Amino acid sequence: MSQTQIYWYQNQFLPKDEVRISPEDRGYYFGDGAYEVIRVYHGKLFEADAHYDRLVRTAEAIHMTLPLSKQELLDGLNELVKRNQVQEGTVYLQYTRGIAPRAHSFPQGAEPVLMAYAGDLKRPLAAMENGIRTVTMDDIRWLRCDLKTLNLLANTMAKQHALSQGADDVILHRQGTVTECSASNAAIVKNGRIITHPANHLILHGITRMVMLRLAERLGIPAEERPFTLDELQAADEVFITGTTVEVTPVVSVDGLPVSGGQPGPVTRRLQEAFSEAIRS
Ligand code: PMP
Repeated sequence: MSQTQIYWYQNQFLPKDEVRISPEDRGYYFGDGAYEVIRVYHGKLFEADAHYDRLVRTAEAIHMTLPLSKQELLDGLNELVKRNQVQEGTVYLQYTRGIAPRAHSFPQGAEPVLMAYAGDLKRPLAAMENGIRTVTMDDIRWLRCDLKTLNLLANTMAKQHALSQGADDVILHRQGTVTECSASNAAIVKNGRIITHPANHLILHGITRMVMLRLAERLGIPAEERPFTLDELQAADEVFITGTTVEVTPVVSVDGLPVSGGQPGPVTRRLQEAFSEAIRS
């Protein structure tokens, strides 16, 4: 990455210190906006089309019209990657509904505000190799977890709960049905089959989850998109999580009890290898 981080704010590429956020930005007051985090491998955006489609889906669902076309947005993000000389990292982008005096009702004629940056981030090789420890927790979020909005308080509280318990992340559940994690999707393996929560309103439709299911199909590993319980989680042969920053990361313990003998399992390993291959190509 270059020395001064360059942000894309509205229509300008600016050094981070020169970005001026309005105190009346609705993102600041209400978390009123949509966001995406996209992986950069070898200086290129990974699965950019899928991220764009999800951003549009979120924006439409919250009645926000994006001012830039797909091409304009992706060109700008690629320019950001180039200007920051990012080879292995992430791009973060968010659109808030706009700037207006504080009122719950949507402001008339406000223009959505774009803010994006690109930064270095290495692949989490140690966690991918050794696995992570998790604790389970009630999923107290709202009922549109499929939308990638800026409202992440419940997710940040969940992550912090995991850390306070000496764990790396949480596995969330609604009345015993496992949904996902604080910033990733969850899956189990039982008798050679992958099981992961269906892509409905209770989970984010993870791009990495989608890539993982595509790779599983290619590898001939059967997968079921169906709800599974905390009991199934504890009795699973393998547990793993998927996400843009965590890729495919094994879970080696749940609530202090080992899963798959406290070691990453063979199906998880095959998926990791296939994922690394997908990145290379
Ligand atoms: N669930 C939640 C709650 C997330 O925040 C994320 C990360 N964006 C994911 C799942 C994984 O999604 P993706 O694979 O698109 O990063």
